[in-house]
Amino acid sequence: MIEERQVVCGNCGQINRLPAGRLASGARCGSCHQQLFSGRPIEVDEQGFDRHVAHSDIPLLVDVWAPWCGPCRAMAPMFERAAKELEPDVRLLKFNSDAAPSTSSRLRITGIPTLLLMRGGREISRRSGATDTWNIVAWARAGLAGS
Ligand code: ZN
Repeated sequence: MIEERQVVCGNCGQINRLPAGRLASGARCGSCHQQLFSGRPIEVDEQGFDRHVAHSDIPLLVDVWAPWCGPCRAMAPMFERAAKELEPDVRLLKFNSDAAPSTSSRLRITGIPTLLLMRGGREISRRSGATDTWNIVAWARAGLAGS
């Protein structure tokens, strides 16, 4: 039996089912034909966040941020570079906490930036405060290896 993974398209939200081995090879969305992994974090709103959490078979790394937060803006380019390192093993999402207060409170976000590492719809690790690309990648890999 071929192992399949569900991947949510960052462009149109379509849920794609792919053989696990095809993830790395520039797979495209069956609906909008954009690349499923573009090497960039995906900006999500509350609905988009819930969709990824519910339907992603690959782990999610979520940057919870807000436009007024200086450390968040400082970390944004590092988080972008981390996407190039971690995709397609991990899907990176960016989540504006100001635009999503109910999800932020459900996730018990108390300060930003906060990074959340999730797998199978559950949070497995989190860290607060700005950090650099190397630390983001190392922290995510360590969290996934240990869970
Ligand atoms: Zn699509």
